Amino acid sequence: MKVVQRPGNKGPFKTYVVAVLKGLWLTMGHVVSNLFHPEKLPTVFFPEEKKALPPATRGRHRLMKREDGSPRCTACMLCATACPAECIHILAEESPNPDIEKLPAKFDIDMLRCVYCGFCVDACPLDAIRMDIPEVTVAGYTRDSLVYHKEFLMDHDNKDVVPDYNPPRPVLWTHGPHANP
Ligand code: SF4
Ligand code: SF4
Repeated sequence: MKVVQRPGNKGPFKTYVVAVLKGLWLTMGHVVSNLFHPEKLPTVFFPEEKKALPPATRGRHRLMKREDGSPRCTACMLCATACPAECIHILAEESPNPDIEKLPAKFDIDMLRCVYCGFCVDACPLDAIRMDIPEVTVAGYTRDSLVYHKEFLMDHDNKDVVPDYNPPRPVLWTHGPHANP
């Protein structure tokens, strides 16, 4: 058997010294450049800096409110039924408004189980639940703190939401007690 040497595969080339030195030179070039021109780095200095979220982002849930501040939700349980993680727990109560049958006395979402699939938003016939609060980091010191209750889910302002948030919406009511703005 005759071993054919590759051209150039001799001396320092055979030990990859030249290739290693070329790699080190390139790396050192980046180190020096980044040290003196940090503004050119593509890095986002999270959490001090946050990137703008795209319009289709699924952020934190919120429960939409009617004009009188009551929840738009009628405790129909469709979102809880559609939720694959079974993390929505609703307790219904009778509504004082004769046009609306029920309201949620309790509406809890266990964020430790939520998989951010958005099925709850898609399932809701009243657009009563949205995932457009631009908070994508879910962290807490206790498990209980990551169960979001109705009061927390309703504590929001329209200006808090992801700009231009526009996921596909179900058919909405345009009049009557369930009308959406
Ligand atoms: S986003 Fe998905 S997993 Fe989370 S509460 Fe909604 S349906 Fe359940
Ligand atoms: S699907 Fe909508 S209206 Fe029905 S319980 Fe869920 S949030 Fe409320």
